[in-house]
Amino acid sequence: MADKKDKKEKKIRECAWEKYSDAELKKVFDFAEGYRKFISDNKTERENNDESIREAEAAGFKNLETYIENGKKLKAGDKVYLTNMGKALALFVVGKEPLKKGMNILGAHIDSPRLDVKQVPLYEDTELAMLDTHYYGGIKKYQWVTLPLAIHGVIVKKDGTSVSINIGEKDDDPVFGITDLLPHLAADQMKKTGATVVEGEDLNIMLGSMPLKGEEKEAVKKNMLAILKDKYDVVEEDFMSADLEVVPAGPARDYGLDRSMIMGYGQDDSVCAYTSLRAILDETTPAKTCACLLVDKEEIGSVGATGMHSRFFENTVAELMNCMGEYNDLDLRRALKNSRMISSDVSAAYDPNYPSVNEKNNSAYFGKGIVFNKYTGARGKSGSNEATAEYVALIRKIMDDNKVTFQTSELGKVDQGGGGTIAYIAANYDMEVIDSGVAVMSMHAPWEITSKADIYEAYKCYKAFLKDA
Ligand code: MN
Ligand code: MN
Repeated sequence: MADKKDKKEKKIRECAWEKYSDAELKKVFDFAEGYRKFISDNKTERENNDESIREAEAAGFKNLETYIENGKKLKAGDKVYLTNMGKALALFVVGKEPLKKGMNILGAHIDSPRLDVKQVPLYEDTELAMLDTHYYGGIKKYQWVTLPLAIHGVIVKKDGTSVSINIGEKDDDPVFGITDLLPHLAADQMKKTGATVVEGEDLNIMLGSMPLKGEEKEAVKKNMLAILKDKYDVVEEDFMSADLEVVPAGPARDYGLDRSMIMGYGQDDSVCAYTSLRAILDETTPAKTCACLLVDKEEIGSVGATGMHSRFFENTVAELMNCMGEYNDLDLRRALKNSRMISSDVSAAYDPNYPSVNEKNNSAYFGKGIVFNKYTGARGKSGSNEATAEYVALIRKIMDDNKVTFQTSELGKVDQGGGGTIAYIAANYDMEVIDSGVAVMSMHAPWEITSKADIYEAYKCYKAFLKDA
């Protein structure tokens, strides 16, 4: 009896760790180390976009812009990328078949929950300089206090020059933070619900405490402005035209005694973006054109020019077709309709500390490989893109043929909650799309946790999909 049960369970959900040889295990850990460094150095969508471009160029990708401007022709095997405002990125490896036959597309998002600095952020209160923030994405606000925080981003001056900001990451950098009330005086606070124990308007960064000598009014604020002027040549009004993001300071770390996991900021959805990027960078001359789409604004509904709802991807495919000498409107529509996509976003990993929110047979587990979600959504699958049974069958075959460890899951119990991704937006082109991704614990917390085996299986999954879909 026991044997029979074990056999059945293994077939539906196998443990990736058990299948690795010593040589493969080394590959798993080496790959994870590259990922750990990448997410430590690239915490914002701009940083992710820029570093992805640097790595793509090193792998032979050229800016599609140069083809568009010079009327240069693209041919099979050519590799190109195009950025959207420095916050989203599309990469392509041109295939041998005409584009109207469709593409194999990997998609993920590169924005993560964080605290954005407001446009008029700087003020002084009781001789402390404070920086006001407006949180971005779905966060539990109480998790963001008493942590070392860093400020990343750009300040663009009226003359168009851009100043890059990154404070809090180097060992000898200062860090910032948001204070919390001492337990001795927290009797009223502790009676509040989790949603209000720390409120949005209380997420104020403490920026400094030392006054500018000789100043009487707002001397600490003036000191901050003097430092900003001296170091970055910016003035207070320049905050108006800035994209400044406050994120947890410090690198991602190996997690666990066996170092089998990674704890890092922004793994939703850098873990899918990085693995998708690595997969397309490995591509040479595929039959079908391969694409990788790294988008912004997923955490606030995929809206805006750099989000998945934007025409950016469609327009870029049109440009690509034009450079291939194949453009017409009908063929563009066919190219999108005939495409297949893995839309990757993180899944909620089963957490033994919180078993009540999951249904065990349809949960994602650490070490059990890349996760496929036939659908996401909430309240009766609302808001989800449901992959057809036929498409799921094709995906299963590709995974099994390429010995990729995978599992299927839902995001929590029915009626417990739910979530959305970019899948349904790509599906508007009438292409086959499935939700997939890496399981994460403490999702949307400042430090999220993933399994190195799952990261590696995600990379293998994307490579297999680009090759065989
Ligand atoms: Mn998210
Ligand atoms: Mn996500």
